[in-house]
Amino acid sequence: MKVQFILLLLMTFASLNCQNKQEINNGKNDIMKQTAKADNPYYSRTDTSKLNLPDAVWKKVLPADVYEVARNKATERAFTGKYWDFEGKGTYYCAACGNPLFRSDAKFASTCGWPSFFEPMRTNSVLYQPDNSYGMHRIEVLCGRCGAHLGHIFDDGPPPTGKRYCMNSIVLDFEPDSTPAK
Ligand code: FE
Repeated sequence: MKVQFILLLLMTFASLNCQNKQEINNGKNDIMKQTAKADNPYYSRTDTSKLNLPDAVWKKVLPADVYEVARNKATERAFTGKYWDFEGKGTYYCAACGNPLFRSDAKFASTCGWPSFFEPMRTNSVLYQPDNSYGMHRIEVLCGRCGAHLGHIFDDGPPPTGKRYCMNSIVLDFEPDSTPAK
């Protein structure tokens, strides 16, 4: 009887211990998700070295929908992306390489259906190139680190720049500002 009781106690302790480990691992996974991507060894929010990789490599490491916009210059449908009317405070990173791109302070409510910013975080956060596709003359905006297609820039933005960086949500990773300790 005594032995059975001790056994029961041991089993209860073991199962509690297991549960705690599971919770800790889940927490660790969340942190991993924020700063790295399991299938993408090129993703870093701190490494500023330029990436010049062929599309075949990106195809292996990016989810298909991210690849379509980042490398094939697809455009997500208006009003369908996760950030077009999102107002969280924080930083937007390139979903392909982790490069910091925009701060939420520079985001403005736009009726166009895509997340819109009036300036990038740093002048070299993004690159520009002419885009004459679909019979239009537009300026394409690319990630300054990996060259991913992010969207286009227009001259109908609000002060202080008058610019509208019209971006695809799918190529942005949002990280909320950490709340200050009370
Ligand atoms: Fe990038």
